[in-house]
Amino acid sequence: MTKRIYLADNYIKDFNSTLVKNTSKGIVLTETCFYPEGGGQPGDRGSLIIKNQPIKVNNTRIHQELVIHETETQDFPVGSKVEGKLDWNYRYRLMRSHSAQHVISRYFQVNYQAETVSTQLKYGKSRLDFQPLRKIPLEELETITKKINMILAKKLPVSIKALPREEAFSYLREKKYQTKYLEMVPKSIKSIRIISIGDYDFAACAGTHVKNTSEIGEVSLISTKNKGKFRERIFYTVI
Ligand SMILES: [Zn+2]
Repeated sequence: MTKRIYLADNYIKDFNSTLVKNTSKGIVLTETCFYPEGGGQPGDRGSLIIKNQPIKVNNTRIHQELVIHETETQDFPVGSKVEGKLDWNYRYRLMRSHSAQHVISRYFQVNYQAETVSTQLKYGKSRLDFQPLRKIPLEELETITKKINMILAKKLPVSIKALPREEAFSYLREKKYQTKYLEMVPKSIKSIRIISIGDYDFAACAGTHVKNTSEIGEVSLISTKNKGKFRERIFYTVI
């Protein structure tokens, strides 16, 4: 099992580790701050320095509790000391997009009674799917954008905590978070990580986030697309 040091601190940009395994896809380390693709958030990019040689990490994935740093070459001795460096520009923008997504999801839940059923964060344009939701006309989308930016401008603190499974479920239900999908996670998962954004939003999430909504700056909601009966896709970017 790889120790995922980003879970407790999302701002770690570089770290020292040890190589434990080479796979056909990439390199496994004892610990890492590289986020593996999941929960709608892309895997991190960056570099690993092994024996003074910089190796590019094109993506990061998780497979059976092992974080795999996808690299073009993998033939390094097990036990090698490794220095890891995130592509911080890439990751930080994804952190801003991810925290923004939580606020946008809550906004639609509160104001449109629409739940977020899927998300896909991208360095550029991210997207959310809502259900049930009607088509949102352009002018209305502009008003929503303004309202969401007013929430972000309140400089709400973003905090991370872990609660035991059952305690987390009842806490989140009380905060009006949709726990239907969360309850499907295997019972072997005993602790749930909760991201709180001021008093506005509470969600179970394993992703990386900024510390304050002021870091997000502003968002722009761009367009909506019908994805089926009462299901709408909304695109957005962080500016
Ligand atoms: Zn999330």
